Amino acid sequence: MESREDVLQFVLDYMAERTSRTVVKAWFSETEMVGLTESGAVIRTPAPFKRDILRERYAEPVREALRELFGVPMDVDFIAGDDPAPDPGQPEKSGCGGVPYYRQQYTFDRFVVGKSNDMAYGAARNVADNPGGDYNPLFLYGGSGLGKTHLLFAIANQLRVQRPELRVLDFTGEIFTNELATAIRQGTTPAFREKYRTADVILCDDIQFIEGKDFSQEEFFHTFNALHQVSGQIVVTSDRPPKHLPLLEERLRTRFDAGLLVDVQSPDFETRMAIVKSTAARTGLRLGDDVIVYIAQSVTNNVRQLEGFVKKMTAYRDMMGNVSLEGAQKALNEIVEKHPGLRPTPDYVLGKVCEYYRADKSDVLGKGRQARLVQVRQVGMYIVRKMTDISLQGVGDFFNRDHSTVLYGVEKMERDRDSNPALDTEITEIMENIRSV
Ligand code: ADP
Ligand code: MG
Repeated sequence: MESREDVLQFVLDYMAERTSRTVVKAWFSETEMVGLTESGAVIRTPAPFKRDILRERYAEPVREALRELFGVPMDVDFIAGDDPAPDPGQPEKSGCGGVPYYRQQYTFDRFVVGKSNDMAYGAARNVADNPGGDYNPLFLYGGSGLGKTHLLFAIANQLRVQRPELRVLDFTGEIFTNELATAIRQGTTPAFREKYRTADVILCDDIQFIEGKDFSQEEFFHTFNALHQVSGQIVVTSDRPPKHLPLLEERLRTRFDAGLLVDVQSPDFETRMAIVKSTAARTGLRLGDDVIVYIAQSVTNNVRQLEGFVKKMTAYRDMMGNVSLEGAQKALNEIVEKHPGLRPTPDYVLGKVCEYYRADKSDVLGKGRQARLVQVRQVGMYIVRKMTDISLQGVGDFFNRDHSTVLYGVEKMERDRDSNPALDTEITEIMENIRSV
C-alpha cells in the first residue's frame, strides 16, 4: 500500500466484499481520499447529500476497514466538494519515527524465505547488519509482487531501530524524479542535493523509473558517488537487471554492475505454502491442509496475489463460519471472474472445459481412459499450460498425473490443433470463454 489511492481502494474492496459492490460503487464513485493521518482519514465526495449519507451509513464500515488495514483504531470524516480540506500541516499517517504503520509491518521476521528469495533475503539482512560493508551497492531485481519493496523496508526498519544515528532515506525512483523536478523549478537544487548526498544509507525502490530521464540519472549518479566515497550504503530495486534497462546511463550501469546483483524469483510451491500459512496465521484464519495446498497450487503469479487471496478468505470465513475446500475454490473462481486480468486457476479452467464438453470434473481428474475423456483432460492440461505460468509438475499435481503425461498431452494438443480445425475452434472458444468473464 503506497498511496491514499491504494488505501481508499482497499477500503472499498473490503466493504464491497462484505456488503454489495454495486451499493459501495454507487456511494463511493467520485470519492477521493484527501487526508490520511495518524488518527484518521478524510474522504471527499462532490455532493453534500452524499456526504451526509456517507457519514450516516459508512463511517463505521470505513473505520473497520482502516482498522483492518493499519491494525490500529482510526477515524474517518467525509467532506463534500466545497468543504475545507484537512489541514495540510498535519503529519501524514505514521507510527514511530515518522514511518507509516504499513511500512513497519515489512520486517525480516515476516518475510518467508525459500529457494526463490534466499539470496535476496540474505543480502538484505547483511546490509541491514552491516551497512556500507561488503554488499555495496546492492541491486535487487525481479518481477512485481515478489518482495523487493518488502526487503527494502525491512532494511530501513531494522536500521532505524538498531542504528538510529544513521540517516536512512528511502524513496522511489519516481519520488526522486519528482522532487528533483520541483527543486529545479523552484531553484532549490542545493537543498535537494544536501538531503540526498549527505544520507548514510539510501534505499531507492523501483529505480527503473529514472531510466532515460537525464536529469534524474545525472543527479542519482552524483548522489551515488557522494555516498560511495564515504562508504554510505546504497540499495536499489528494479523490475529488471541493469543490463535490461537499455536507457540506463552507461556509467550508472557500471556502478550497479560493480556491486551485488541479486534476483528475486517467483516463489516455488513450498514457499507459497509457507506464505499462505503465515498470512493465514497473521489474519487469524484457520485453514485445512487441503485448502492451503489448493491455494498454493492455484495462485502462482506473485506473493501479492497470494496474500490478497488469503485475506479475501477472511471475508468468506466471516460469512460462512469456516473455509472449506469448496469454499476456497468458489471464492478463488469468483476473484478470477471479477478480475479478468488475472490468470485463471486450473480449477477455473477445468470448470470451463467441462462446461463446454459437458463432462464431469471428477471423471476428468479420475483414472478413466475412454478416448473422449482423455481428450477433454488433454484440452484441460493444454489450456492450463497456455493460460497460466504453472509448471508441468504443477499441472500434473492438479490433474493427478505426472509431468511427462502433461507434457505428452500438451504437445499432442499443439500438433492436433494444426491438423484438426474443429479441435482448434473448440480450444479457441473455451479460451475465449475463460477470458471473457
Ligand atoms: P515488489 O516490490 O517485488 O513488487 P512487494 O515487496 O511489494 O513486491 O511484495 C508484495 C506483497 O507480498 C507485500 O505485501 C509483501 O509483504 C508480500 N511478500 C512478498 N514476498 C514475501 C515473502 N517472501 N514473505 C512474506 N511476504 C512477502
Ligand atoms: Mg515494489
